[in-house]
Amino acid sequence: MTSLSAPARRASAVNLLTQPRTAAAPDRPARSGWQRQAACGDLDGAWFFPADREPADVRAARTARAKSVCALCPVVSDCLAYALSVREPFGIWGGLTEAERAAALRARSRARSPQRGHPVRVSLSPDGT
Ligand code: SF4
Repeated sequence: MTSLSAPARRASAVNLLTQPRTAAAPDRPARSGWQRQAACGDLDGAWFFPADREPADVRAARTARAKSVCALCPVVSDCLAYALSVREPFGIWGGLTEAERAAALRARSRARSPQRGHPVRVSLSPDGT
């Protein structure tokens, strides 16, 4: 099994949100509100984001470790709401993987349009029969 440790400390999900503003990323907010309570705030971001060409067994172990942190995080709902609102494409946010968040967004979209996928009854006669 490949080591999970990263050669350099990488930002966790919350730290990515709160990196110093730069010309390349001028809109990054300062850490505030729910982000200050994040359980991952001081953890290695490698737990939350996949490395290039990450083997499946390493990915599974990393994901399980990250989710165990999220499960104890006091702001998991805020984090997930944020990630869904910006359609965050990478990493573990709010205890969900990229694929799980995509599925949640699809489910939410289906719930908002309940008629979608159901046959529409069309009457061709004047009395509606
Ligand atoms: S839910 Fe997970 S990713 Fe989000 S702030 Fe908490 S520990 Fe970090």
